[in-house]
Amino acid sequence: TFVDQELSAAELERTFIAIKPDGVQRGLISDIIARFEKKGYKLVAIKLVHPTKDFAEKHYDDLKGRPFFNGLTDFLSSGPVVAMVPPPPPSQSMSNHTADPQVWEGQGVIKYGRKFIGATAPLASEPGTIRGDFAISVGRNIIHGSDGPETAKDEIALWFKPEEILSYKKETDKWLYE
Ligand code: GDP
Ligand code: MG
Repeated sequence: TFVDQELSAAELERTFIAIKPDGVQRGLISDIIARFEKKGYKLVAIKLVHPTKDFAEKHYDDLKGRPFFNGLTDFLSSGPVVAMVPPPPPSQSMSNHTADPQVWEGQGVIKYGRKFIGATAPLASEPGTIRGDFAISVGRNIIHGSDGPETAKDEIALWFKPEEILSYKKETDKWLYE
């Protein structure tokens, strides 16, 4: 059906979101999840993990060599992290392109997730964004989100086993999209 095609297309664009140890410690789990949930994004995987230093270094592999790398990976491995994968719900515009997955790159949850999160430096983040509303320092910016389709794929594979990612329909999709 039309809806089934849209759902399978939507699955092609998933992002990886993590609430870092500072967000967990500060009691911001529910506020952060609520923003994605209320927007209409569907959560397909979630767990509480305390990453090892080694795992944190893998996650931030692209930043190896930066002066803050050691502090950043110490920090990420300092306590529990909420790891999540919300893909977007189906949308009308996506339904025209179900045959070509590459059309989705940059659309939907990856890009919008980054908008929700705000700039890396919280003081440069707009009010209304997660970092803009809840954080001050760049090294304590409470949330991580994949920055593109490739990193999303890699990060999801690093943090989750395939069987931990669920596929299900939400009845509310029909109230979100015409
Ligand atoms: P993000 O994608 O917005 O999270 O930013 P990056 O991928 O560039 O960096 C990953 C994380 O490293 C950021 O979220 C910050 O917590 C941290 N970070 C980035 N730049 C700096 C910096 O200049 N100083 C410090 N202390 N931390 C930084
Ligand atoms: Mg990044």
